[in-house]
Amino acid sequence: MFCHAPNPSNPDLSAVASAKVDPLVVHQGQLAYVILNLYPYNNGHLMVVPYRHESSLAGLTPEEMNEVGLLTQRCEVVLREAYKLEGINVGVNLGSAAGAGIEEHVHLHLVPRWNGDTNFMTVVGQTRVLPEDLRATAARLKPIFERLANA
Ligand SMILES: [Zn+2]
Repeated sequence: MFCHAPNPSNPDLSAVASAKVDPLVVHQGQLAYVILNLYPYNNGHLMVVPYRHESSLAGLTPEEMNEVGLLTQRCEVVLREAYKLEGINVGVNLGSAAGAGIEEHVHLHLVPRWNGDTNFMTVVGQTRVLPEDLRATAARLKPIFERLANA
């Protein structure tokens, strides 16, 4: 999980991977990418993931941390444009005790919030039925990421 996403910084893999990019991937950076959570806590739930398989923040290089941070900023901008949201939870769960679903590969969550929606902590780890399906979410967000990447 997460290692199967394409890595454009590795030319050997990119040619193969570009032909079958995970449809949930909405943006590919140099060292990290952005993907929709297959089991979102809310509409627009994004994850920022370094390509390299690493379980801890401490194990990421400064360059990887920098790109994860910059992509987190980008995600905030994209989500604010795409949704009339009222807040965003941003966080990293390190280890299963902290609620990490995939604890061996570190990733950062951004969860859009609306006043009156279910409390974030009570829905962690559960699957809920959402009004927007993931294909619609991807179709909504990808063009905004593309436009900002080329700006
Ligand atoms: Zn991995």
